[in-house]
Amino acid sequence: MVLKVKTCGAKTRSGTSCKRLPCVANARCSLHGGKSLAGIAHPNYKHGRYTVTLPSLERMLWLKERRLRKERRFMRAVFRKFGIWYERHPRSNVKTQMLALRCIHAAHLYSLARRRARYMAKKETAQGLCQTGVSKSEKKQSQSS
Ligand SMILES: [Zn+2]
Repeated sequence: MVLKVKTCGAKTRSGTSCKRLPCVANARCSLHGGKSLAGIAHPNYKHGRYTVTLPSLERMLWLKERRLRKERRFMRAVFRKFGIWYERHPRSNVKTQMLALRCIHAAHLYSLARRRARYMAKKETAQGLCQTGVSKSEKKQSQSS
C-alpha cells in the first residue's frame, strides 16, 4: 500500500508536477507561492474591495462603509443647503425651518436621482456606440424618428 501525501503539484520546468510538501496557507510549497501573503497580510492590502481571500466579509464591510460615507455626504450637502436658506430666513419659526429642511432633503434626493438617470442614459448611449455599425445606424434611426 502506497502512503498518499498531498504534494505541491505545481508544474515544474521539467514538465513534471512538484513533489515538495505544501505550506499551510495555499497548498503550494515554499518555492511555488506558498510563502506569498494574501488578503489582509499582503503589504498592498488597502480596503478589501477586490480581495479574493475572505471575499464576503471584507467586501460586505467595505460596502457598508461606503454606504455610510455616502449617507454622511448626502446629509452634509442637505445641511449646507439648509444653512444657505437659514441665512436668508433667520427669523423663521421652527415649524417653517422643519418644512424647509424637509423640502431641501426631497429636492436633493430628486436631483441625485435625476443625475443618476442622466448618467445611466449616457452610459447606455456610449455602450450603443461601441457596438457594431448595424446597431449604430438603428440607433440613429430611432433617435431621428
Ligand atoms: Zn512546489
